[in-house]
Amino acid sequence: MAPIPKPKPSTIAAIDKHYVDEARDWDSLGISVSLAGAECARALFYEFRWASKPEPATGKRQRLFERGQDDEEKMLRDLRAIGVEVWGEQERARAVHGFVRGKLDGIALGLLEAPKTIHVVECKSLNTKGFKAVIKDGVKKAKPLHHAQIQIYMHVLGYDRGYYYIKCADTQEYHSERVEYDVEFCLRLLANLERIIFTDVPPPKISEDPEFYLCRFCKHNSVCHNGLLPRVTCRTCIHFQPERGGDCHVSCARWAKPLSIDEQRAACPAMLFNPAFVPYEQVDVDEEAETITYRKPDGSIWIDGATREEAA
Ligand code: SF4
Ligand code: SF4
Repeated sequence: MAPIPKPKPSTIAAIDKHYVDEARDWDSLGISVSLAGAECARALFYEFRWASKPEPATGKRQRLFERGQDDEEKMLRDLRAIGVEVWGEQERARAVHGFVRGKLDGIALGLLEAPKTIHVVECKSLNTKGFKAVIKDGVKKAKPLHHAQIQIYMHVLGYDRGYYYIKCADTQEYHSERVEYDVEFCLRLLANLERIIFTDVPPPKISEDPEFYLCRFCKHNSVCHNGLLPRVTCRTCIHFQPERGGDCHVSCARWAKPLSIDEQRAACPAMLFNPAFVPYEQVDVDEEAETITYRKPDGSIWIDGATREEAA
């Protein structure tokens, strides 16, 4: 007989609930700088288009997030303690019409390796495996997401040196690596991100195998590989348009108006899926009725625009 699971102690459950209640349920306005170097372009497209529900907050997840912030503050304090000047914490960095967005950890002057050179600082707390990998192979190879992040911050802020400053969360050991600005890398990366933001067609999958290691842990796996319809929001609507020249401005071609974040989340009754998101065969379009008809794999017909509640 299977053992009866032990219930979570009620005090711990109450603490976890407190964290969940305090957590902000948010959709990222654009693509976070911390994800910009992701290997799968399709995952970034889905991220930008809010294809999948945000991962639910848990007590553990929120505490890990807070620990990262605490570690970062302590690491910057330690730099100051040895006389390094640090400023610019949480300064905003924007690229690609505001659609690539992030906040940097800090800017430093007075690092002993190059006291007269300003460095963009990126602090990370890593487990032992990640920490050792960075020592062995360097940030570019061992942590490509972090490398892309620090490169974009240097590019946007106009500095040519970065300071990748890491802590081993298991042993409290510190390590750092000075990073040189790579203009070609940044221009290529930002051009690629711009293509992802302004396309209506999902880029190719990194693998056709849902069990591929990146796909297995990808939150968009069900939409990407398993024929799940994405969330109903403006971002998956055929009328959604990202705009150039602003700070993450988007609009609706159907109503010819800019869209607030709340409007995007709510969608409107005229919402019609961008067919590139629909995993069925498109068989008809009725422009007057504003419907698109699809045949599902089981042969049944689904009319988008007429049966919105089915997709919600
Ligand atoms: S499931 Fe795989 S192919 Fe699809 S978006 Fe995620 S990483 Fe990319
Ligand atoms: S038609 Fe409605 S759901 Fe579609 S983009 Fe416009 S406001 Fe959003």
